[in-house]
Amino acid sequence: MVQEMEKVGVVGAGQMGAGIAQVAAAAGCNVRCTDISKNACDKGKASVAKSLARLVKKERISEKEADTIATRIVWSTDPTLHADREIVIEAASENEELKKSIFAQLDACCPAETIFATNTSSISIGRLAASTTRSDRFIGMHFMNPVPIMKLVEMIRGIATSDETYQRVNALAERFGKTTTLSQDFPGFIANRILMPMINEAFFTLMEGVGSAEDIDTTMKLGTNQPMGPLALADFIGLDTCLAIMRVLHDGLGDSKYRPCPLLIQYVDAGFMGRKSGRGVYTYD
Ligand code: NAD
Repeated sequence: MVQEMEKVGVVGAGQMGAGIAQVAAAAGCNVRCTDISKNACDKGKASVAKSLARLVKKERISEKEADTIATRIVWSTDPTLHADREIVIEAASENEELKKSIFAQLDACCPAETIFATNTSSISIGRLAASTTRSDRFIGMHFMNPVPIMKLVEMIRGIATSDETYQRVNALAERFGKTTTLSQDFPGFIANRILMPMINEAFFTLMEGVGSAEDIDTTMKLGTNQPMGPLALADFIGLDTCLAIMRVLHDGLGDSKYRPCPLLIQYVDAGFMGRKSGRGVYTYD
């Protein structure tokens, strides 16, 4: 029998962290979600409220259930709140040094039994685990965006991840209502090793004037049966996140086919991060 976990910590209250907090609370867990920014905590809390209201409207849950789920999540800027958690899932920005410093801080404040999971899209699980004293209790738990809707969690075992850690975290993902797949610890894992080069190629196609953004997206949507075109999807993911993943693929695999498109770099340098900043390839209200 796998030992279930009830006390869940989430670090990062951005689009992914807030979604992870929501699915954990919906599964009955007691959740604490922290962020360095108070504004991000407020936005995270509001986005969960909005997402739950949508489920009430669709009659998937009652108003009372929505209230109960929302009250299971504590939002805070105090990372020491994770000291009594059974698992902490990190979903801060896609930056290796930042994630390592978060895990070093968590390692110092959480008991040895606490499992650490990272929602990184591409960074080596082994390298992140090495910033802690618990590589055996460290794992990749890669949720998809938007977390409450997307069915998949890609599990990534680091070189030292124990069988018990994998089984317990996999069972937690299933309790969140997700289907899991298992990837080994290589840059980009399975999903982004395949998805990101396609998105990057869409930026090259745009940069070279092969087609307009609308024509590129419509071609891929209607021509290859994808629910969103690659450029709209990049805006949805966040162009900063897409660029960070391409850099991990390029550095980690060393093949020039993974070089980030200069146009993608230009957008990020200009602060055009996609939907979350109001402007990316497209403009949003
Ligand atoms: P985001 O920019 O929406 O949120 C990141 C949050 O991290 C921000 O609120 C920021 O304030 C917070 N943060 C930064 N430094 C912190 C610190 N020291 N302590 C606590 N919080 C801190 O980004 P996101 O899209 O939610 O991505 C988060 C992670 O999830 C990244 O690793 C990303 O690669 C991964 N991911 C993203 C997607 C996606 O589609 N966006 C999908 C799967 C995985």
